[in-house]
Amino acid sequence: MKIIVTGGAGFIGSHLVEKLILDSHEVIVLDNLSTGNLENLDQIKNKIKIIKCDLSIKGSWIKNFKDIDIVFHLAALADIVPSIEHPSKYFQSNVTATLNVLEASREFNISKIIYSASSSCYGIPKVYPTSEVEKIMPLYPYALTKYLGEQLVMHWNNVYKLPSVSLRFFNVYGTRSRTSSNYGAVFGVFLAQKLANKPLTVVGDGTQSRDFIYVSDTVEALIDSAFNNINGEIINIGYGLTCTINDIVKLLNSKFINIPKRSGEPDCTWADISKAKKILKWKPKISLKEGVNKLMNNIDYWKEAPIWDEKSIEKATKSWFKYLGHQSEK
Ligand code: UDP
Repeated sequence: MKIIVTGGAGFIGSHLVEKLILDSHEVIVLDNLSTGNLENLDQIKNKIKIIKCDLSIKGSWIKNFKDIDIVFHLAALADIVPSIEHPSKYFQSNVTATLNVLEASREFNISKIIYSASSSCYGIPKVYPTSEVEKIMPLYPYALTKYLGEQLVMHWNNVYKLPSVSLRFFNVYGTRSRTSSNYGAVFGVFLAQKLANKPLTVVGDGTQSRDFIYVSDTVEALIDSAFNNINGEIINIGYGLTCTINDIVKLLNSKFINIPKRSGEPDCTWADISKAKKILKWKPKISLKEGVNKLMNNIDYWKEAPIWDEKSIEKATKSWFKYLGHQSEK
């Protein structure tokens, strides 16, 4: 099939593109390379077409949708703190760009669009494990803009009958998890610290837990969503089990320090994945232990990554404490 992957140079996107090429599909990557990295596609760069473009502005990139069967829309800005500091940038990248991708898909009659949504739409959930019907409570612009993107996708599904599926990813980890200048996801931070023999910075007492899902499992869920006969569905994708940050510290076998707890962040995220199992016929394969082993075997990838410490994290998360502190009281 002919497939577009937006954000194909990013963390999940590049793993998806590799798998699609392995399965003999024809792939066009649309990416503005703001957080994505062409090195992620090094192994397959001769087999794909890569177009650097800004999806938040309508442009010549749209003509690539001609004769495309499936669009995976993964392009987005991630991370909480920068989204608080630059909400309009996040709106452009996560909402306006999604609108443009939907319109391009509609214009060229593509057969299905798969949207990568975020479990952050649940905010601080009241029910665990959290299913797709639980209350939506985005607590910061990243969560809100990813949710608005999902709403657009479902609206285009309803009104224009554009076939689509939205996958709400929980905490995705794996090789190539992005470690740019932003203070970001925990594995990227911890692996760079471990490699530099610095203490891992554990937020609070480390008893908070997350539902970590290995990147190859998310790739399978994306592909299953595209090729199974389902439409108009929103589906959680997580491991369906949780582990604490202290568990990760143990698995990484590293020294650590504790840094201030962040009010406004959930003590637990935990996906109810029964819908994914039932209608996607998908289930995760990689346990946390296996996933961490894979990371450790590739730890050199984080050699160039920024090494965060207590002081630089305090500086990088200032706006978190300024703006999000009141959320947990609601
Ligand atoms: N975390 C941590 N140390 C860090 C970064 C994150 O202990 O240096 C914790 C964070 O408090 C959270 C968990 O790791 O409980 C996952 O954080 P991440 O930012 O990866 O994902 P999210 O909080 O969005 O689920």
